[in-house]
Amino acid sequence: MQSISRRGFVISAATAAAAFGLDGPLEFMTPAFAQKADKGFVKFKVGDIEVIQMYDGTWEKAHDPGFVKNASLDDVKTALKAGGLTDAHVPIPFTVTAVRIKGKLVLFDSGTGAQLAPTAGLITKNEVMKAAGIDPAKVETIIVTHFHPDHISGLMAKDTNAPIFPNATIYVPASEYKFWNDPTTTAGAAKRIQAVFPTWKNIKQFEGDKEVVPGVKAIATNGHTPGHTSYQMGSGSRQLIVLGDVTNIPALFVRNPSWHAVFDADGPMAEANRRKMFDRVIADKATVTGYHYGLPGAGKIKKDGKGYVFEPVKVA
Ligand SMILES: [Zn+2]
Repeated sequence: MQSISRRGFVISAATAAAAFGLDGPLEFMTPAFAQKADKGFVKFKVGDIEVIQMYDGTWEKAHDPGFVKNASLDDVKTALKAGGLTDAHVPIPFTVTAVRIKGKLVLFDSGTGAQLAPTAGLITKNEVMKAAGIDPAKVETIIVTHFHPDHISGLMAKDTNAPIFPNATIYVPASEYKFWNDPTTTAGAAKRIQAVFPTWKNIKQFEGDKEVVPGVKAIATNGHTPGHTSYQMGSGSRQLIVLGDVTNIPALFVRNPSWHAVFDADGPMAEANRRKMFDRVIADKATVTGYHYGLPGAGKIKKDGKGYVFEPVKVA
């Protein structure tokens, strides 16, 4: 399940489910979809917004009883199995959303840059972007959800920290920027951020819920990190919401919205914003993308008992 190969699809649906972190039915795994996913990306439209989902790989996270603060390891394993996933580890995929909106290409976050897990970094290593028709040198707009390393490492070269997208303006939530650039913040990638971002002239901070670039509006969804932000495009059911890390993998955290992953800096705030956002996208019938939802990594959220369920889009 480390690589996306066509064989993976024909061998077993469970293998594919594990590779893609899906918790929904697999009937959309048509041969055409498999062929597209084989290249590490899928494209579809929401209204007149073209969405390109690019798969960066999956981190096979070793089990850790502290991973979900308020659920046992047994509960986690049971939920993984119920979602059709392996319970040998927690499979956490990384998926970058790009859109073409109002004639502009916009990237949300950047992938792991092949710097985190040996089983991730496909966007950088295997030229998934070029296959999807995106030349990193020509990317002009990147919008960041938050500064965890799995979301921003793809902005910087491994050893030199040189910009991977030299011609892009990188839009970041001001509250997120301030938190990570505070010298008293030492967690995660703080040191690297503090060494690199203040020297980059192409980073633009924005405050609050505003239109960041034409057609793309910020929605503060703090909790996962102090400045975590989601993004909304279009309207009504022709609406796309880039959730970022409002939840981690659906099989665990869409199903169980009250579960607090150790990655959530403020669990109760993250949960409150998660519920608020899910109820909003259900009411609007909006399509969402989640950074840790695998491929296609986009679909609808539906209510299901005490929790929710994620139904992936069907890509013909
Ligand atoms: Zn993340």
